[in-house]
Amino acid sequence: MVTVSPGARPRQWALWRQPPALVAYFLLIDTVAVALTVFFAGRDHVDAHQWKLFGVLVALALVQAELSRALEEARRLITNAPHVNMTTVWCYAAVILLPPSAAGALIIVVYAHLWLRVWRKLGTRPAHRVLFSTAIIVLSAYATAAVTSRAVTSHPADWALPNTAMMLGVGALVYLAVNGALVTAAAALHGKPHHIAIAWADYALEIATLCLGIMTAFMLTLAPYLAVVVMPPLLVLHRAVLVKQLEELAITDRKTGLLNASAWHDVAAAELSRAGRQHSSFGVLMVDLDHFKLVNDTHGHLAGDEVLRAVAGLLTSEIRDYDCAGRFGGEEFAVLIPDAHAEQIVTTAERLRHRVSELEVTAPTGTGDTTITGLSACIGVAVYPTHGTTLERLLLTADSALLTAKTSGRNKVVMITGS
Ligand code: GH3
Ligand code: MG
Ligand code: MG
Repeated sequence: MVTVSPGARPRQWALWRQPPALVAYFLLIDTVAVALTVFFAGRDHVDAHQWKLFGVLVALALVQAELSRALEEARRLITNAPHVNMTTVWCYAAVILLPPSAAGALIIVVYAHLWLRVWRKLGTRPAHRVLFSTAIIVLSAYATAAVTSRAVTSHPADWALPNTAMMLGVGALVYLAVNGALVTAAAALHGKPHHIAIAWADYALEIATLCLGIMTAFMLTLAPYLAVVVMPPLLVLHRAVLVKQLEELAITDRKTGLLNASAWHDVAAAELSRAGRQHSSFGVLMVDLDHFKLVNDTHGHLAGDEVLRAVAGLLTSEIRDYDCAGRFGGEEFAVLIPDAHAEQIVTTAERLRHRVSELEVTAPTGTGDTTITGLSACIGVAVYPTHGTTLERLLLTADSALLTAKTSGRNKVVMITGS
């Protein structure tokens, strides 16, 4: 993982190792955020009451960051999944109550604190990424301020107006849209289009934190000390997100992102009982790469890992949405093909085998990147109910078909007939 230590020279920054278009985009977004902040700072007048609210929001944000730091450190022992932060709560409250320059200042203070106290130590976020994340939030906040600036003043009575609710709702949507668009553009320039799709769960979390931001602003308008009531729900929400990440981790194979063996078994067991009820048929494929040890021996383990990821990607893209691929361990994969007859299952297996033989994998070696070709796989096929009515029986049958494929020359699909 590339990081920037505080003393690293500008020439060594990880930023310069990004694609040129992405570097230009990062610099553009950072520059626009700084320019607008300077512009708003020159224009806005922040009164004494607003400074007081600013102080309370900063204090709450820092306390929450410190409390969630403890949560994060506990989580880091188990997973490497990205850090979750819920600063949107304070950012949106600041946008609602303060002039843009003060909201921008709050965001900068909060992100600088997170960088110093959390991200720098974890070493998973290079400095340019932190700057870019800050700039994105600052720009989202300024765009949102354009909608919400007149929604509430310091009078609690403003909150009773139907107009207020509507403007704050639209403001939240603007925040989501601008934030999402800026992140999506970065992902596209990074050449990772599959990373663009932001999961619904992420949006749900963002919406929940925006709602808490509205509540915080409301509480602060009534009396600053009331804003403390937002803290417990926020911490519980944070913990719930971590639990969900851990749940996902428990069913995922870390190296390939496929289901792990036990999760695959669970899915297959569910399919078995469904097929039993509906008298349908399904297939189980056991896929094993041929001479994979040779890949490791020739190109090294890291290259071997890259091949495993490529095969996992191929399996996922070549099967239907409701088929299910898992990694059983090593270079062995299992594929479940619901609602299919023997002929369709064998056709699918043949297609997978053929695609593996066409794979070209760019992988790192000690002497630079290399392209690995000439891969092949054996696939053992078992069909429910022909080869068995229990998962164990089907897996044993697929395994012995796989063995037959291995001993009869490799690069083969075998389905044992007549059993
Ligand atoms: P065959 O054609 O008979 O299947 O031969 P093979 O070399 O593919 O199979 P074998 O079982 O002899 O070796 C499997 C190798 O897979 C040995 C092991 O080092 C390697 N392996 C297992 N897990 C991983 C992994 O996660 N990453 C890498 N790079 N290699 C792995
Ligand atoms: Mg093998
Ligand atoms: Mg094997």
